Amino acid sequence: MPQLRLFDTALGRVVEIEQQPEQSMYVCGITPYDATHMGHAASYVAFDLLNRAWRDAGIRVAYVQNVTDIDDPLLERATATGVDWRELAQSQIELFHTDMDALNVLAPNHYIGAVEAIPDIVPAIERLIADGVAYRVQGTDGEPDGDVYYDVEMAGKRSDATDAWTLGDVSGLGEAEMLALFAERGGDPDRAGKRQALDPLLWRVAREGEPSWPGATLGDGRPGWHIECTVIAQKYLPAPFTVQGGGSDLVFPHHEMGAGHAYSLAGVPLARHYAHAGMVGLDGEKMSKSKGNLVLVSKLRAAGEEPAAIRLAILAHHYRSDWSWTEADFGAAKDRLARWRTARDAAPAGSAAALVEAMRLELANDLNAPGAIAAVDRWAEEALRNNAPVSGMDAALMGDAVDALLGVEL
Ligand code: ZN
Repeated sequence: MPQLRLFDTALGRVVEIEQQPEQSMYVCGITPYDATHMGHAASYVAFDLLNRAWRDAGIRVAYVQNVTDIDDPLLERATATGVDWRELAQSQIELFHTDMDALNVLAPNHYIGAVEAIPDIVPAIERLIADGVAYRVQGTDGEPDGDVYYDVEMAGKRSDATDAWTLGDVSGLGEAEMLALFAERGGDPDRAGKRQALDPLLWRVAREGEPSWPGATLGDGRPGWHIECTVIAQKYLPAPFTVQGGGSDLVFPHHEMGAGHAYSLAGVPLARHYAHAGMVGLDGEKMSKSKGNLVLVSKLRAAGEEPAAIRLAILAHHYRSDWSWTEADFGAAKDRLARWRTARDAAPAGSAAALVEAMRLELANDLNAPGAIAAVDRWAEEALRNNAPVSGMDAALMGDAVDALLGVEL
């Protein structure tokens, strides 16, 4: 595998990933209130390519993922459907694992729930308060006292080191854009008593009818989302770790705020690089629960569709691009899979080594899966035209490369 290059969101350009004997990656996990849709699947497949590229180069990979097994959307869905929130979470976590296994996504080394991380999160928030970068808000309009928020302005002033975090370092957004996204993606810019509209929640104290956990000096409650990922990543990975990944809807506020929390807690950046996968729509429209147009991996599987074909349909799009799932493209992926299988069985002697090299070259270039697929297509075309002796060794090498590098089982 040649030197790996990856687009870094914070820097806004493709960078060379520093060579190290061990790389580390944190990819934000799901909130388990709904089944895995194509957008989730594409995002985890994208970072699976990175995991596979590193492993192909003989590098050990420390990979951690969280699962936000307590959060507002989960509780809202549980209430709306009359299911206990714990049961809802457990069933969706199991479905997610089954979907990921089927899609041949290599499992993380650690898969950590928000609830189990609370004993680590509480002292971290206490420290942020003691350091003056977090504060308690007084309750108004029937809200209890004591919700804790992160002071983005104070946190940004804390250090003049060149790698210190200030608001906007990860996302590169201006204030107006940040405010709009903050409101859209779970933030509460209008909460009374906050110092800045963009200050994110660290700890939500207990409310009637909501689950809560012991919070020591914070009082019983539950953690905010950004501090959850920060504390889990800091506990299980080096500081800084190599790549933080997720869908592009996590750039702000989630990864922005997580970077701030981490710097406030450790004095070093959370991650060296931030990488993001594009969004997936359906037939040119945004995919959303409210539109009822979610394409679910589990539904496709239940309809008898082959997971390898689903994965190949995803990989036909560069991970950073926004794209739409269409029946036509899925049909093309199924045809391609069949063609590759036929071609493998006709593998010309001495042809596979050059193919492996071409695939590695493409994947090292910002995980260019469409480029790697095109290389296999060209090889398959040659193989199917071939009259030369068929080689079992080349067939095996081609099949192994497609499996190991692209995660597509032939
Ligand atoms: Zn996260």
